[in-house]
Amino acid sequence: MILFALLLGAAGWSFAEYCIHRWLGHDRRFTGNPFGKEHIAHHGKGDYFASSFKKLGVAVAAAALLIGPAVLVAGPTLGAAFVFGFVSFYGYYELLHRLEHVWEGFGAYGRWARRHHFHHHFHNPAANHGVTSPIWDHVFGTYEEPSVIAVPEKLKMRWLVDPTTGDIHEHLEGSYSLRRSRAA
Ligand SMILES: [Zn+2]
Ligand SMILES: [Zn+2]
Repeated sequence: MILFALLLGAAGWSFAEYCIHRWLGHDRRFTGNPFGKEHIAHHGKGDYFASSFKKLGVAVAAAALLIGPAVLVAGPTLGAAFVFGFVSFYGYYELLHRLEHVWEGFGAYGRWARRHHFHHHFHNPAANHGVTSPIWDHVFGTYEEPSVIAVPEKLKMRWLVDPTTGDIHEHLEGSYSLRRSRAA
């Protein structure tokens, strides 16, 4: 039961991740909210992230909000496990998202996660809102299969190019391309 409560908490974050990103981050009706402002800056500058201090504050506030109802519904042990699962998976999301931008990563999941997210950044911000998984994109019909991802030169990720030549690393060529601005 504890495992189930932990997994339910993780699933709860996964759903919140999709909703926050899609509606608070990208729906023009709501983007004036603090998350939306930070998120638009993240899209505009590429390697901009809101401060970890703010994120920690949000995590603590979310845990404080959730713990009461969770304990009321499921009792202290299972309620705490649910909140722990939720907050841990949120931490994992933050780590994964940061790594996608700053580190090339490895493995099938790592490659998938980066392509899924950079398709969202550079091709269609109305698609692929999930960062840790594509589940909710499939559920809500916003999933798009990335093809070659054209990265604008000024927003290129550090791990994408060879710093000596300025070209895409050979092993990433089939997955990414550089969209150079005309003036360059
Ligand atoms: Zn991002
Ligand atoms: Zn976004």
